[in-house]
Amino acid sequence: MPDYDVIVIGSGIGGLISAGILVSRGLKILLVEKNVNPGGYLSSFKRGAFIFDSAVDCFSGVENGGLISNVLKLLGVDSQVHFVRVDPIRVSIFPDATIIVDSDVNVYKKKTDVAFPFRGRCSCRFFQIIRRCIY
Ligand SMILES: Cc1cc2nc3c(=O)[nH]c(=O)nc-3n(C[C@H](O)[C@H](O)[C@H](O)COP(=O)(O)OP(=O)(O)OC[C@H]3O[C@@H](n4cnc5c(N)ncnc54)[C@H](O)[C@@H]3O)c2cc1C
Repeated sequence: MPDYDVIVIGSGIGGLISAGILVSRGLKILLVEKNVNPGGYLSSFKRGAFIFDSAVDCFSGVENGGLISNVLKLLGVDSQVHFVRVDPIRVSIFPDATIIVDSDVNVYKKKTDVAFPFRGRCSCRFFQIIRRCIY
């Protein structure tokens, strides 16, 4: 039975990053995953001709100095990952409405105010919180 310095249980993004950082520091890691594929929620699967995201479909923190950007640099793989900015971020289609989420939060707010004028106070508070998270 080989010796390991650390056993990381679960190969979601958290486990992969933890294991990667520990390996980059010279530690011997055993990464254990119960599923067939690694990635946890950050993975995809195929049905017929379509590829579906299991959960994660957009990231923040990929800009220079952002959290993800810093982690990729730390792991020495930043040059191998190319992020594509998408706009709109998401289109949700419901029976009686289509909600388009623009990447520019101000544009998104304006459209939301027009689409849901009765949501005034609630919508404003929501965007105040978002701004506090972003800036
Ligand atoms: C519907 C949805 C949409 C989301 N969209 C986004 C998004 O757009 N952007 C974003 O940044 N975040 C998004 N998130 C959040 C993001 O998915 C999670 O924050 C992140 O993937 C969690 O990673 P994790 O490593 O902590 O856990 P997980 O991804 O859950 O990974 C845990 C891993 O551990 C394994 N495991 C569990 N128990 C054991 C065991 N006993 N032995 C071995 N292996 C085990 C699991 O199989 C899994 O692979 C979304 C989440 C959901 C549910």
